[in-house]
Amino acid sequence: MQYLDDVICAWMTNLDNMIPPLIADMKTSTKKNRFDLVTNVDKQIQNQFENFLNEHFPTHYLLGEEKNNQFIHEDIEHLWIMDPIDGTANLVKQQEDYCIILAYFVNGEPSLSYIYDYPRGVLYKAIKGQGAFANGQPLLEPKSLALQDAIVSFNPQVINIETVQMLLASSFSYRLIGACGLDSIRVIKGQFGAHVNTNPKPWDIAAQFLFAEELGLKMTNLTGQPINHLQAGPFIISNPSCHQEVLDILNSHGGYQK
Ligand code: NAP
Ligand code: CA
Ligand code: CA
Repeated sequence: MQYLDDVICAWMTNLDNMIPPLIADMKTSTKKNRFDLVTNVDKQIQNQFENFLNEHFPTHYLLGEEKNNQFIHEDIEHLWIMDPIDGTANLVKQQEDYCIILAYFVNGEPSLSYIYDYPRGVLYKAIKGQGAFANGQPLLEPKSLALQDAIVSFNPQVINIETVQMLLASSFSYRLIGACGLDSIRVIKGQFGAHVNTNPKPWDIAAQFLFAEELGLKMTNLTGQPINHLQAGPFIISNPSCHQEVLDILNSHGGYQK
């Protein structure tokens, strides 16, 4: 595992040379609707990683946002899941607050995880059984955060207004960065109490499993059950001290759905 971590960290470092010219010549197009953006940066990063895997680890498979994933199934021994740019709208509109999410599963077990906050130059990683790190420095388990003292993060566009108001009234405050990986990092670092995404895809949350496991956080669906890494779906990553309270609010009065 150490060898694999070393080569992935080297690959990530290489992004520092690759990304600036791609951004300088950024081309944006839309996918399902005018808010669903993709750029040459997303596509090139994922292509580069897929080529790297094919060359160095030909028995490994990649599940990625910008590719056809029809051959991915539960029984793959070596699986990587990548969101080449998480927060593409932020990249296009602000050139800030986006990240690269990458996670490695061995027979379905989260084994290595990376969230690269490229604009800030911080590589977060988690290694199974060894903990989590920010640019090589160990991350500590976040201190216990009660909901009334916690900042919470969610997309208010997709949650009914009564539930949004209850969350605001019960927490200390609200912030949304707009990149699932970076909103999750705030929870991982103990800055936010919880981040909720009601409909993420596997690549939005792939790395969070192992950070949560290594740092004593809760990562579940919105009824408190485990999430399947190939199916994803409703998701919360939370400080253990406010997890249940956030779920109770989301599920009260007929639920959070609009
Ligand atoms: P955004 O800036 O496009 O995205 C914010 C974060 O959510 C990013 O991590 C993004 O990943 C991810 N995301 C993008 N589309 C999503 C979707 N349909 N469902 C769940 N996560 C998604 O967000 P926005 O401009 O506020 O919204 C864009 C669209 O996504 C809207 O239709 C919004 O309702 C929906 N959305 C839903 C949720 C949710 O909790 N259900 C959360 C965020 C956004 P990429 O940058 O890799 O695409
Ligand atoms: Ca994403
Ligand atoms: Ca993406």
